Amino acid sequence: MLQQTRVEAVIPYFERFLARFPTVADLAAAPVEDVLAAWSGLGYYRRARALHEAARAVLERHGGAFPSAREDLLALPGVGPYTAGAVASIAFDRPERLVDGNVARVLARLYAIEAPQESAVFRARTWEHAGLLVADLAGRSAGEWNQALMELGALVCVPREPRCLACPVQARCRALERGLTSELPVPKRRPTAIEVELHVAIVRSGDRWLVQQRPATGRMAGLWELPTVEPSGARLLAGPDWPDARGATPAIALGDELGTLSHSITRHRIRVRVFEARWLAGDPEAPLDFASRAQIAELGPTGLTAKILRAPFARATAR
Ligand code: SF4
Repeated sequence: MLQQTRVEAVIPYFERFLARFPTVADLAAAPVEDVLAAWSGLGYYRRARALHEAARAVLERHGGAFPSAREDLLALPGVGPYTAGAVASIAFDRPERLVDGNVARVLARLYAIEAPQESAVFRARTWEHAGLLVADLAGRSAGEWNQALMELGALVCVPREPRCLACPVQARCRALERGLTSELPVPKRRPTAIEVELHVAIVRSGDRWLVQQRPATGRMAGLWELPTVEPSGARLLAGPDWPDARGATPAIALGDELGTLSHSITRHRIRVRVFEARWLAGDPEAPLDFASRAQIAELGPTGLTAKILRAPFARATAR
């Protein structure tokens, strides 16, 4: 949950998630739709699916006992080198290394690694140094060591203006010695933002809203959203069973524009135009359906749909 998301934002999700799925077995037994609904709003839904698949793998391969060996952890869906190192060292006190963004910054400065941050050389060198440091611990806790390195990066060796005077490793820091603390690590190139426009239709029937379930594969798979099209023809939301990106759902007649809002999904900057609309075709069929706000929250809305439903102009629509 903490990947790409701030701690303060995660806490209520984490608490609700653990209340709903208190054990690995509970998570494994739950339908994936329930897991996605509990994850709704955190984004990056692939992580929720991977977590669910990993819970099933822990049950099938390890009898429900979470594995502690790095290789077994790496074999679980969604677990990469960082997570495997963190779980092995912090939860099981195994002598394993880890490198996250904070640790990479500390190591880049400590050893004056001048390769650009996204390069294979940078990655190889930071992991190599992290491993050498763990190998040098002489029996001390790798879990505590790794947490200390992460904290050093979060609190002292911060991205801008590192607090070198307060740093416990300043005497060994090559970047400090060479006057490179503000140059290292060499920043990654920013990916260019992609501008996208979306049209969203608000169709109401009493207290219920017309929503559609996204295809089972692709971006935000299986989540529910207000009927949405991409007039620009961009393929941000495209899925295999998705309506033509240039046309509106034929049974919906768009009316007045209610408002606009901005939204971001990864590198897409989205201008969302929201229209009041009418449904012209009797009872909607799957993947379309009418649902109340409470039902939509339970089904698992996309982040954008949740945002629109909170917007003042959505509340003011006619019933
Ligand atoms: S001395 Fe400064 S640059 Fe070097 S590790 Fe410490 S805080 Fe980071």
